[in-house]
Amino acid sequence: MMSKVLILPGDGIGPEIVAEAVRVLDAVNQKLDLGIETEQGLVGGIAIDAEGSPLPESTMEKARRADAILLGAVGGPKWESLPMVQRPEKGLLGLRSQLELFSNLRPAILYPQLADASSLKPEIVAGLDLMIIRELTGGIYFGQPRGVRQLEDGQRQGYNTYVYSESEIERIARSAFDTAMRRDKRLCSVDKANVLEVTELWREVVERVSADYPEVELSHMYVDNAAMQLVRNPRQFDVMVTGNMFGDILSDCAAMLTGSIGMLPSASLNAKGQGMYEPIHGSAPDIAGKGIANPLATILSVSMMLRYSLNQPEAAQLIDQAVGRVLDQGLRTADIMSEGAQQVSTQQMGDAVLQAL
Ligand code: ATP
Ligand code: MG
Repeated sequence: MMSKVLILPGDGIGPEIVAEAVRVLDAVNQKLDLGIETEQGLVGGIAIDAEGSPLPESTMEKARRADAILLGAVGGPKWESLPMVQRPEKGLLGLRSQLELFSNLRPAILYPQLADASSLKPEIVAGLDLMIIRELTGGIYFGQPRGVRQLEDGQRQGYNTYVYSESEIERIARSAFDTAMRRDKRLCSVDKANVLEVTELWREVVERVSADYPEVELSHMYVDNAAMQLVRNPRQFDVMVTGNMFGDILSDCAAMLTGSIGMLPSASLNAKGQGMYEPIHGSAPDIAGKGIANPLATILSVSMMLRYSLNQPEAAQLIDQAVGRVLDQGLRTADIMSEGAQQVSTQQMGDAVLQAL
């Protein structure tokens, strides 16, 4: 079966790390005869410079007909003085909203070879492998009404609205249960049902959906407790699902438990299984063009793509194993360097993964 992948390198270190990830994708494509076709497009600052828009219509067209998108990163100091609505980041938000990528999957994995990178004690994080699923297109970040208004007493008042409809909750819940089914079959839904009616409804709908997934063990946790538990004993979790704002905060917290920002991939999926895959880190302008960026988060994003949009779990596993192998060999980019290891460039890391494949 043929599938199409759109490659969007973006800005900063984006092109450098995406180049390595594309080499890896090409290699598994050939090796396993997956029939994947790739094409390139512009998004972010580079698209502003070339076409006057962070998300040109030509890119959007390619995105609509792609099964999956591989994105590097967008943004950088060059475009920071632009008005908010014209910034590179708008390209990303446009892709998310136009493709309705409502389900954001953020794994937090601690590689045993990098155990000393975590700020937590080894006995707390060793073997950490959890997945946070964040609702990405609704909740308080998008709810109406919103704004800053003038009050009669002369002061101003800021306000946002936390809304979720039953159908929005149901689809993210299904996405989370489906993911739990592919993993350890334990799902923790995070809310604030003791204070917020919207999350009371959230809990009710998640409970209802759970009837269709009798094999998955469901639990509920208030967000404040979930934050505490993530730091206290993160290994109690397998899959966590939560709304947009809670997920934003908890997923960054979970990522940092691993201490390796250059190692973590992410996926954003819609109801058709179309997805955008990208490293969780940004465009890292401070190291762009130096050839020292860690390409592994982007390479692991390709693995997620094969697993979640292209239905090629064996190919995904090959990549995961290859990454494990290069870490075993002691190869490290500067960001994950430790004593006794061998420091390599972005491209050398890509070479090593290809070799291991
Ligand atoms: P954004 O707003 O896009 O999230 P940011 O400025 O918050 O960007 P990053 O661009 O992720 O954050 O960079 C944070 C720090 O991590 C920087 O010092 C950067 O050099 C480093 N960093 C990020 N990604 C990588 C990578 N792949 N390899 C090595 N270092 C990285
Ligand atoms: Mg940031």
